[in-house]
Formats: sequence, C-alpha cells, structure tokens
Amino acid sequence: MKDKKILVTGASIAGPTVAYWLNRYGFKVTVVERDPELRLGGQNLDVKGPAQVIASKMGIEEIIRERNTTEVGLRFVDTDNKTVAEFPKESSFSMTQELEILRGDLVQILYDQTKNDVTYRFGEYIKELKQQEHGIDVTFSSDKSELFDLVIIAEGIGSHTRKLAFQNKPEFKYLGLYTAYLTISKSTTDSSWARWCNAENGIVFMFRPDNYGTTRASVTFTAKEDEYKGLTLDEQKIGIIDRIKGSGWESERLIKEISGTSDLYFERVSQVKASKFSEGRVVMIGDAAYCATPIAGKGTDLAMSGAYILAGELYAAKNYQEAFDAYENKMQPYVKECQSLPPGVPKLVYPQSKVGVGILNGLFSVLGSKPAKWFMGLFAGKKTTPKLDIILPNYEDDKINKRL
Ligand SMILES: Cc1cc2nc3c(=O)[nH]c(=O)nc-3n(C[C@H](O)[C@H](O)[C@H](O)COP(=O)(O)OP(=O)(O)OC[C@H]3O[C@@H](n4cnc5c(N)ncnc54)[C@H](O)[C@@H]3O)c2cc1C
Repeated sequence: MKDKKILVTGASIAGPTVAYWLNRYGFKVTVVERDPELRLGGQNLDVKGPAQVIASKMGIEEIIRERNTTEVGLRFVDTDNKTVAEFPKESSFSMTQELEILRGDLVQILYDQTKNDVTYRFGEYIKELKQQEHGIDVTFSSDKSELFDLVIIAEGIGSHTRKLAFQNKPEFKYLGLYTAYLTISKSTTDSSWARWCNAENGIVFMFRPDNYGTTRASVTFTAKEDEYKGLTLDEQKIGIIDRIKGSGWESERLIKEISGTSDLYFERVSQVKASKFSEGRVVMIGDAAYCATPIAGKGTDLAMSGAYILAGELYAAKNYQEAFDAYENKMQPYVKECQSLPPGVPKLVYPQSKVGVGILNGLFSVLGSKPAKWFMGLFAGKKTTPKLDIILPNYEDDKINKRL
C-alpha cells in the first residue's frame, strides 16, 4: 500500500503524528487545518507510556524534555491555601509526569518535525466527500476538488468531517462536568508546584506553572449537559464567573483574569464512543474517534498510539480495508481500558457541600493512606495505569512486512 495519496484533517497531536509515520513509510501526505494557523492554546499534556515510546522513535523525546513545564509536583490546598497534601514529581502517585509539556509546545514540535516532508494547508476544511471505487473525491472549503486514496480525520471531539463521512454518529458520554482553561499572570502565591483546590458546589480549581513565566489555570465544575451549550465567548465568561463567584480561595483573581482574556477554552467533558473507526475510505484517529477526556489523562497516549498503529497497518497491509480492520482491532481494547473510569468518578471528587469538601481534604491529608492513593489513582496516578498497555509493533521490521 505504498505511494498512496492520503489526506489528513487536523494539525494538532494525532494529525501530524500520523503524517510523520505515513511520510516515513513512503505515502504522499497532505494535512489540512481549519484554523488559519496552528492552534497553540491549552494546558499541560503528559507524554508517557506509548506516547513516550513513539516520541522516542520519532526523535523528539529530548526536544519534549527540554520544553518541560518545570512543574515539581502537585499540592492539594484548602480554600485558605493551606497545603493538605503534597505529591512530588518523583512520587509514584504524582500527577506530574517525567515529560510534562504544554499542549501548544507539543503541537509545534510535531509540526516542525513534519513540515518539510508533508504538505500543510491552513484555513481549509472539507466541504464534501464522495467515496468512489478508486478513490475519494474531496471538495474543500475553497471549492477546489481533489482525488485522494484515503482520508484520515484527526479533527478532535467536535469533528465536522465525521458527520459527512459516518452514517452512524458516535455516542457522546457526558461526564457531568464543564472545564474552562486559560493562561493567567503569575502571582506571589504561584510557585513551581501545581495547586489543586476543591471548593463547595462541585468546583475544582487547578493552577499550574509553565515554562513561559505565566500560570495555566483551569476550573472544572459539575453542570447539566446543556447548561452552557452554544454560548458566545462573552456568554461563557458570564456563565463561568456566575458559577465560581464567592467560592473562596483565588476565585476573585481568576474572575478578573476571565473577564479580560481572549484565551478561554471552555468545554463540556464528554467521551466519544464510536462503534466503528472507518467508513469506506475514511478513517478516524485521536479525540474524533475516542476522546477519553482530560479526566482520564490518556488523550496524548491514545492520539499518538492510534496514529502510529494506523500508519503502520497501512504500510504493512495489502489493502486499506485490511489495514483499517487491523487498526481497529488493536485500538478498541486499549480505548475501552483508557475510557473506563473508576467507580465514584467524577461525583466523589467534586463534592457539593462544605462537609464533603472537608472530608475529601481530610482524606488527602493522610499521606500515603489508602484513600489518598485511591484518589491519586483516579485522577493522577497515571504512572500506575492503565492495566493494559498497548503493543506497538515495529512496522519497519521485515517479519511484519512479509504481509506486503
Ligand atoms: C485549542 C485546544 C486546546 C486544548 N487544550 C487542552 C488541555 O488544556 N488539556 C487537555 O487535556 N486537552 C486539551 N485539548 C485536547 C487535546 O489536544 C486532545 O485531547 C488530544 O491531544 C488529542 O488530540 P487530537 O489531535 O485528536 O485533537 P485536537 O487536539 O482536538 O485537535 C484537532 C485539530 O483539528 C482541527 N480541526 C477541527 N475541525 C477541523 C476540520 N473540519 N478540518 C480541519 N481541521 C479541523 C482543530 O483546529 C485542531 O487543530 C485541546 C485541544 C484544542 C484544539
């Protein structure tokens, strides 16, 4: 299956990773990104497990290490900013990983690693798709049409092309939470530790240091599924401010920052459950196919391993159907494992009452206790999860390519 012409949509994590491997295997790759430039917003991602192995194979592990966010560990604080528990980076239960990087830095590294070999087109998206016997006709937003052998959707959770290509829509499993992310100015209370603060009414604040002298803030809260759906940026700001007003800790500081920011990323926390990853000549990878949400802490692992396996299977297979089947069979059990959340998540972690918050902080404070380890295992103990790790075949190995 070499020398085929492949279109990838989305230039974030999954798109450039699949483009890198396809190019390395001899395919002709074009990536279209709907935005006029790379979207470099967002907070910390961790490159661990399969993602770290793939980054190493791509020769970017050290570049990622050099751009680490400088975070030394996680502190749980109460609303008086008193530390109730501390998990340094070295601890096996720490949320801070060896390769902790801002999402924008990782996107930039992946783009830089591919931009000379792959054609990137920004400000473009697919308007129409027509599956043909010998290829797929793509009409772009610019009204230009082009024939490709295959289309790979890497457009994230809200993918539009998925709607055009798939008859059966994936299911969205709403986890009962909304999260707002933004970059804020550093203050005297910030340090190289991340701070996590539970407040009443199901609110969790998290402030994390970055390698640019600013602070990456997020606030997550319980909400009904459509409570903040379809809002403009200004309406989102009003909704978030109303929700966190009076909740103590550094909420007033955050409210001031929210009021003045244009860098707000506000999302409904939902998982994508697709029964099929492909339809004819179109296949999905990353969040578009199997978003696990930041709560699962597996977005980068899933995006990079799916991209690696899909490209490898296309390289090794006789035809695209065989490759798509092999990709899906390898990924589905891993997706299931990554998306499974332990009982009690997220409800127990977002207590509504003052008493509930007090109990949770009390549990954290018993360092090394079973409840503290249980909690870190849910959200942060990613060093110990998942039970099932995915096998990453070496597709450049001759034995695998006997199938060619
Ligand atoms: C701006 C932004 C900020 C984020 N911040 C965080 C964060 O702080 N923490 C976290 O855990 N996760 C964050 N994520 C999600 C995270 O990047 C993913 O969970 C994960 O890395 C998998 O990436 P992906 O490549 O599958 O999808 P995504 O990272 O969602 O990227 C999808 C890309 O496709 C592009 N796109 C969308 N529609 C089209 C279209 N029709 N045609 C062409 N291109 C299209 C988007 O502009 C985007 O560049 C963020 C995503 C984005 C886009």
